[in-house]
Amino acid sequence: MGIVIKDLTKKYGNQLALNKVSFSIEQGEVVGLLGPNGAGKSTLMKSITNAIIPDNGEILVNNSSVNTNPIETKSQIGFLQENNPLYMDMYVKEYLEFVMNIRGEKKQRVAEVIAEVGLTPEQHKKINQLSKGYKQRVGLAQAILSKPEILILDEPTNGLDPNQIIEIRELIREIGKNTTIILSTHIMQEVEALCSRVILLNKGEIVADQPIEEFKGQYQNLE
Ligand code: ADP
Ligand code: ADP
Repeated sequence: MGIVIKDLTKKYGNQLALNKVSFSIEQGEVVGLLGPNGAGKSTLMKSITNAIIPDNGEILVNNSSVNTNPIETKSQIGFLQENNPLYMDMYVKEYLEFVMNIRGEKKQRVAEVIAEVGLTPEQHKKINQLSKGYKQRVGLAQAILSKPEILILDEPTNGLDPNQIIEIRELIREIGKNTTIILSTHIMQEVEALCSRVILLNKGEIVADQPIEEFKGQYQNLE
């Protein structure tokens, strides 16, 4: 269960983006992925979601390889991208049903997810009428529609106002009770608020992988 990453390496031309990155995450862990710009966070997330093919190494979700079993593993990995593209002209419920339709899955699940992310009163509104915080809820809903084993969140509170940040973090906390989460961010506070463990990437390599309490003691001056 969970996710195992072994010796993941990716180069763009001569630029090494990931250098033999290995770690594993147990089912139910909420792990913060920290690192400066260019550290390799996006490349790692894109490898897990199979949006790019690494040069070397392996990613196993529930013992199944993401690269060799893309169809089987796709529904087990939910992804909330930074600036998640949404069809702004669609209604919330209509949009989520549309996503399920594309995935060839039953749309009954949509109502459940709408309730889960607190979008019930907004479900018949157009996405472009929603506040940024509510748009992010739609993004989260989309990411958890297929009940993924692993949820990847890329800067999930970026651009939100303080109240919206509190609400989205609360939701992530709820979702994290029964989902493994990898949360990429540059905000240490966010990791402290949500994660039990931190993986710090720099120049394509893991420079720290430890419980949040230990990490806080060691990297007080990170920001
Ligand atoms: P992060 O998300 O932590 O900012 P990235 O994974 O985007 O890091 O980038 C890791 C390294 O790979 C950086 O040096 C970046 O410039 C380089 N890189 C990322 N994507 C590409 C690309 N498509 N072509 C060339 N270099 C890239
Ligand atoms: P992030 O670090 O959040 O991914 P970036 O602005 O670094 O955001 O990257 C945006 C896009 O540009 C990504 O798809 C990434 O792969 C690509 N990219 C990043 N660095 C380079 C680079 N040096 N050359 C070409 N493409 C790059």
